[in-house]
Amino acid sequence: MTDIKSMNLSELTAYLVDYGFEKFRAKQVLSWIKQDADSFDDMTNIPLKLRDFLKENAYLACADIERVQRSKLDVTSKYLFRLYDGEYVEGVLMSYHHGRSMCISSQVGCKMGCTFCATGKSGFSRSLTASEMIAQIRSAELDCGERVSNVVLMGMGEPFDNYDNVIRFLKLVSSEDSLNIGMRHITISTCGIVPRMRDFADLELQCGLSVSLHAPNDEARLRTMPVNRRYPIAQVMDASRYYVNKTNRRITFEYALIDGENDSDETARELAELLKGLLCHVNLIPVNNVTGAGYKKSSLKRQRAFVDILTAAGINATVRRTLGSDIDASCGQLKRKYMKGDV
Ligand code: SAH
Ligand code: SF4
Repeated sequence: MTDIKSMNLSELTAYLVDYGFEKFRAKQVLSWIKQDADSFDDMTNIPLKLRDFLKENAYLACADIERVQRSKLDVTSKYLFRLYDGEYVEGVLMSYHHGRSMCISSQVGCKMGCTFCATGKSGFSRSLTASEMIAQIRSAELDCGERVSNVVLMGMGEPFDNYDNVIRFLKLVSSEDSLNIGMRHITISTCGIVPRMRDFADLELQCGLSVSLHAPNDEARLRTMPVNRRYPIAQVMDASRYYVNKTNRRITFEYALIDGENDSDETARELAELLKGLLCHVNLIPVNNVTGAGYKKSSLKRQRAFVDILTAAGINATVRRTLGSDIDASCGQLKRKYMKGDV
C-alpha cells in the first residue's frame, strides 16, 4: 500500500499520472489531506474511479488520539496515539509564552537501550513514516485548537536510526504542501549516530540539532549508553564540530544529571574541557524518574554547582525546567507500554 501522505505535491502528481490520472487531481487529493480527510470516500470532488484506485492501492496514515493525560501542574498534555496498524506511540504538547511546542516520536520503541530511558527499556517494534510524524502534530493541533509552532523529535525512538523518513518528514512538514512549520522551529535529538550526524550536517538544513551526551568520557558513557561502544565520544565530538562548522549553527548537548553517577565537580570540569571552544549550549536535565532504572535526580545544590563550573569555564549551560512530571511526560518517560491490541 502506498503512503500518499508522505508525498509532496510533485511526488503525488507523478504517482497519479503514472497510473493514468490527470495531473490536477494531485492538488485536489492534497487539499483533502490538508483538510484532515480520514477516508478516500470523503474526497467528494474526485471521480469514483480515482477514489476506488486509491482505496485499493493507497492508505491515509494517521495518529489517532487514543488517550490524553493533562497535567495538573502545568499546561502539558501527553497523548497516546494509535497508528494504522494498531501500534502505539506517545507525544507531548507543551505550552510556552511563545506558543505551542510538540515533542513527537520517530519510532515505536527504540533499539539503543540507554539505561535511564523508559523507551530504551521497552524494546523496538518499527520506525515511523514521515506521515505518521506529521499526523501526531496535526492530531494535537486539532485537540488543542491551536497551531503548533515548534517541534522537537525527542519522543520515543532514535531519529537517526530512521534517517530517511525523518529527513522526508523535515522537508515535508516545513513545506506549503503540509503544515508549513519552519525548519528553524524544529529540533532533532540524537544519541550520537555519527555517520548520520555527518550526513545531516551536509544537508545544511536550518533545523536544530541536539546530541545526548550524558557523560564526558567513554568509561562513564558506556555505563548508561550502549551506543557509545559503536560511536565513542571522540567520534561524536568530531561529528559535532563538523556540524557546527558546516552549518554555522550552535549545537546543543543534552546532559541528564544523575545523583552520584555523572554530577561531580570533577565530571563538570571534564565536560567543560571536552566542549571548550565549540559553539554549543548544554541542557542539563535533572534525570527523570523511570521505574526500574534506579537513578535519582542530582540535588539542587549539585545542579547549581555543576552549572556554575560550566559557566565559569565559558560554557553556555542551563538547567531545564521539567514539564508534565505528574503524567510521566518528561524526557525519557515515554514508553512502549501499550502493545498492539492492548487498548
Ligand atoms: N533518541 C533520541 C531522542 C529521544 S530521547 C536521543 O536519545 O537523543 C530525548 C532526550 O531525553 C534525550 O536527550 C535523552 O537522553 C533524554 N532522556 C532519556 N531518558 C531520560 C531521563 N530519564 N531523564 C532525563 N532525560 C532523559
Ligand atoms: Fe533511545 Fe533516546 Fe531513549 Fe536512548 S534516550 S533509549 S536513544 S530514545
